[in-house]
Amino acid sequence: MDLTLLYRGPLASCDYDCPYCPFAKRRDSRQALGADREALERFAAWVVSREGEDRLSVLFTPWGEGLVRSWYRRTLAELSHLPHVRRVAIQTNLSCRTDWLERADPSTLALWCTFHPGQTPYERFTAKCRDLTALGVRYSVGIVGLPEHLPHARRLRAELPEHVYLWVNAAEGRAYTDEEADRWTAVDPLFPYSRHPHRSAGLPCRTGESVVSVDGGGTVRRCHFVREPLGNLYDGSWRVALRPRPCPLAVCDCHIGYVHLESLPLYDVFAGGVLERIPARVPPRLPDGARAVPG
Ligand code: SF4
Ligand code: SF4
Repeated sequence: MDLTLLYRGPLASCDYDCPYCPFAKRRDSRQALGADREALERFAAWVVSREGEDRLSVLFTPWGEGLVRSWYRRTLAELSHLPHVRRVAIQTNLSCRTDWLERADPSTLALWCTFHPGQTPYERFTAKCRDLTALGVRYSVGIVGLPEHLPHARRLRAELPEHVYLWVNAAEGRAYTDEEADRWTAVDPLFPYSRHPHRSAGLPCRTGESVVSVDGGGTVRRCHFVREPLGNLYDGSWRVALRPRPCPLAVCDCHIGYVHLESLPLYDVFAGGVLERIPARVPPRLPDGARAVPG
């Protein structure tokens, strides 16, 4: 069957220290890193074992930064070559080297990159983006919509190749005036989808049917936000639990969740690039003050 898996292992450390980081940052001990590597290798072996059975799309969404660890780079490159893997992508701050991407299949691998001003110089980040473009890697670039980030976002939009989508995430807990939202929408025409949390209670969501979240121990849940387990990946118990099901939570405010809501048109908007957040066509940008409202 066609399945999308969002994998999040125990890795919790990051080489950056963003003040707005939504995750509790930790230092991972050598033992913790070993456990993360083991969990990732077990998951990757399961993906390999599904050849001839499933068609899989995988997004790695670590709490910390995965690509500074060799086992994430190697796993992504290896999985990208499997015939039954349609897409393998990871969320990253792009601090890693880029030479490993030469060993990946660029028609399958993709990167969801975030620029964090204050953590790395603008030029260093955009040099990495140029590497990705030269290697033919699919990638999106994003930034958190804080007022002090707006000049960086505008500069990125002006300097990134036109075909590279620049997304803006509404900052957690921040309310945007219409004027502020217009400024961000002029950079990212799809910002209105991120501006407010989506009311999701009772609405049909593909998670739990064709999309699941998997943790390092193999516990399968419908998504990262609903804690009730559906079973374990490695004993197959989760498969019988797959079925259409409404969202049990009041709101869904993270792109990796609400993109799967059937009440939103985002599978069409991001057709072919749902996991790495690349729209089917880069939407035209509106000038400041021209308001765009999603359906
Ligand atoms: S790069 Fe991401 S995970 Fe790392 S500190 Fe910043 S927001 Fe947190
Ligand atoms: S709408 Fe969001 S929180 Fe609700 S089930 Fe879907 S992904 Fe999970």
